Amino acid sequence: MSDSFDVIVIGGGPAGYPAAIRAGQNKLTVACIDEWKNLDGAAAFGGTCLNAGCIPSKALLESTELYHRAHEEFAAHGIKAPDVTMDVAQMQKRKAGIVKTMTQGILALFKAAGVTPLQGHGKLLSGHRVEYTAHDGTRRELTAKNIILASGSAPIELRSAAFKSPQIVDSWGALEFPSVPKRLGVIGAGVIGLELGSVWRRLGSEVTVLEALPDFLAIADQQLAKEALRHFKKLGLDIRLGAKVTAANVAGDAVDVTYTDAKGEQKITVDRLVVAIGRRPYTKDLLGPGTGVELDERGFIKVDHECRTGAEGVWAVGDCVRGPMLAHKGKEEGVMVADLIAGHYGEVNYKTVPSVMYTAPEIAWVGLTEEQVKAQGKAYKAGVFPFMASGRARAMEQAQGFAKIIAAKDDDEILGVHIIGPMAGELIAEAVLAMEYSASSEDLQRTIHAHPTLSEALHEAALAVDKRAIDSINRY
Ligand code: FAD
Ligand code: NAD
Repeated sequence: MSDSFDVIVIGGGPAGYPAAIRAGQNKLTVACIDEWKNLDGAAAFGGTCLNAGCIPSKALLESTELYHRAHEEFAAHGIKAPDVTMDVAQMQKRKAGIVKTMTQGILALFKAAGVTPLQGHGKLLSGHRVEYTAHDGTRRELTAKNIILASGSAPIELRSAAFKSPQIVDSWGALEFPSVPKRLGVIGAGVIGLELGSVWRRLGSEVTVLEALPDFLAIADQQLAKEALRHFKKLGLDIRLGAKVTAANVAGDAVDVTYTDAKGEQKITVDRLVVAIGRRPYTKDLLGPGTGVELDERGFIKVDHECRTGAEGVWAVGDCVRGPMLAHKGKEEGVMVADLIAGHYGEVNYKTVPSVMYTAPEIAWVGLTEEQVKAQGKAYKAGVFPFMASGRARAMEQAQGFAKIIAAKDDDEILGVHIIGPMAGELIAEAVLAMEYSASSEDLQRTIHAHPTLSEALHEAALAVDKRAIDSINRY
């Protein structure tokens, strides 16, 4: 095998592996180095997302939502299934099978695109060189005209609740519980806390979520956040805001957690504690001396809007650089860089990166929140359509939540779309496309949506922007 490539990608997660595939499609010679090992010790491409993030969490969310719906909704349909039970081992086996199929699929995609897979550690050296150490310890020096760093992120640790015992775990640990913890504590009411808190709550855990901030889902549109909080409470998540954890002590097989809130010091005892307070860029042993690649004060690799680092021919993409830590954001950056390297056009529109929480109801948004539009002093109009007025949502027994569209008052351009309701994560794609093409709310109003579909909620929300909704009262 040659030691010289047009492109070397370090990191084979959802930012790195698409970069490698696109480089191969662009007829460049390319290698992708990845060091991930699963809990059974097997090496696997796919990074956090496929092995311990997006994919396994969605598998568990799907299984537990079906179980929950069997208990909560089947009766309304007239389905009698009083003995529905959950086999947690089978649920976990299904999840592991999906992860294995998806991660092995990357090797097939690499083969088709002519990408050389290298499993082990990659370290950037100066002068377009990379030190590659295979998992068996053998070391080689490789060279490439262009090197893409895609080393991802790792969970942030909390000093007062360190990951030092099987009782206090990160998100990966919370995906692997072999049985349902009776009492589950979650630190952080962010995406992971709410998704994984929902998973175990649906199976019967008593879940307490401790969030440091006084506001719930502070990054979301607050009308949406308020509606979401109502649904999480109905599910039975005990969400405590303004709660600052000061100590977590393992006592036997349980954890005593101490926190302070507005009322003073509080204590809870849980059987498992998940710490999900965000992730940090991961660059351990990635950069050799004299590479010219710089980190910012939070540890992210410094890049420009096209993901160029300060070093000639060195790029960085995904969770290890600024911007939202989302798989689809990293993928677009990886593809952009591989196209720019090949001399093609490449761009990422950071204004239209969608956010999705795969809870029930699902939550999704793109663009500005109403609070952000107000803060910018921009004149706007907004329309809301509740799913309870959607025939399809009612037929699905899921008539909860709403779709909301915010548009500029002057030229009607769509500024933000916020959805909480059934399949919100799928529905948001229409809003992303509309915003990508700088659509106005009138463009959506004049677009035919099939009846009866959930997508009509976006159509009606667009009509409601001009107080012309047909199937609901124009209240906003
Ligand atoms: P990673 O996926 O972290 O991949 C980096 C890879 O590089 C890893 O395999 C790592 O081992 C390897 N590596 C690092 N350093 C080196 C080195 N020096 N040499 C060789 N290899 C190296 N995002 C979504 O968009 N949707 C979701 O539904 C979603 N769900 C999530 C659920 C959970 C529980 C978690 C934890 C995250 C979730 N995310 C989700 C976030 C998503 O996983 C990340 O945004 C995404 O994985 C980032 O991709 P990446 O390629 O930048 O990094
Ligand atoms: P997050 O940033 O979404 O949420 C962390 C939460 O913890 C915040 O609400 C924060 O205020 C709170 N917090 C921080 N320090 C705290 C403390 N000391 N005590 C109590 N609360 C504290 O982070 P996350 O949930 O860990 O997720 C990490 C990343 O993974 C996110 O950037 C997210 O984008 C990504 N992710 C995405 C998805 C998805 O797209 N569906 C799912 C899971 C994870």
